[in-house]
Amino acid sequence: MKLSIIVPIYNEEKIIPELHRRIIKSAEVITDDYEIIFVNDGSKDNSIFQLQSIASSHKKSFYINFSRNFGHQIAVSAGLDNCKGDAVVIIDGDLQDPPELIPELYKKHKEGFEVVYAKRENREGESLFKKISAKFFYRTLSSLTSIDIPLDTGDFRLIDKKIVECLKQMPEKNKFLRGQISWIGFNQTAVYFNRDKRKYGKSGYPLSKMLSFAIDGITSFSDKPLTFVTRTGIFLSFFSLLIILYAIFSHFILKETITGWTSLIISSMFIGSVQLVSVGIIGEYISRINNNVLDRPLYIIKETNIL
Ligand code: UDP
Ligand code: MG
Repeated sequence: MKLSIIVPIYNEEKIIPELHRRIIKSAEVITDDYEIIFVNDGSKDNSIFQLQSIASSHKKSFYINFSRNFGHQIAVSAGLDNCKGDAVVIIDGDLQDPPELIPELYKKHKEGFEVVYAKRENREGESLFKKISAKFFYRTLSSLTSIDIPLDTGDFRLIDKKIVECLKQMPEKNKFLRGQISWIGFNQTAVYFNRDKRKYGKSGYPLSKMLSFAIDGITSFSDKPLTFVTRTGIFLSFFSLLIILYAIFSHFILKETITGWTSLIISSMFIGSVQLVSVGIIGEYISRINNNVLDRPLYIIKETNIL
């Protein structure tokens, strides 16, 4: 099989017919030997019925139906576990990633690149908050990690079978595919595109999901937050020691008893919040260790037409 196209689907019923049509058109520019794998990630609308009817009328289309919503990264991982192509395209199911770019990605792959990612030049119709938070996130991430995660790049990309095999050997439960793929290496290049706006439905990434995705990215690829906590701790202990010495000195030698409620409340609030943040950061890492120790399956498939 030459080409696999993986599409995660969460509440995209309105767009599925157009999505399917446009993906087929782009795939057929490249080859007849392709497959499209839709992963229905516990959609609450009629997406699954659409996917089933598509799969029964078009022999190159397949679906995997999850038992519930497991999340975008896990949906893509399920597609990767079940695809057969020598080249594999990952594309969003809301047409924000234009399928028409796939032939261009494939061309670069033919030139010898194992990873061809699609880099967004601008994001149309997304809220100012999303644009700013995304910019901030990608820059924070790249300043925290030593590996080179490309800026402003989602999961829309083409990867070689070799990369898929490497990903399967990475058993972590908190997936951050774009980081993992950068970590794997090989020859990587970018193709630029304009990100369209969502035509129907709404984003499946509310703030809470975006935050936990961002924390997954940071905790999987950086120990710096922990180092930061330790260093702040050392600095603050040193600082407190000075204050303690001064307090003893002023009590026994200067014989001044301080009435200072202000300084007391400020220092206890400050130390309290630093401790809370520090414990929180450590907790984020521990909860991820816990997830991996539990060793549950990554996802549960309710049904599929992939043999
Ligand atoms: N998606 C998914 N599971 C989820 C949330 C989203 O499979 O829990 C899919 C969604 O159908 C889409 C892709 O992941 O194909 C990207 O999601 P979305 O467009 O909601 O994210 P955004 O573009 O707003 O970042
Ligand atoms: Mg989207």
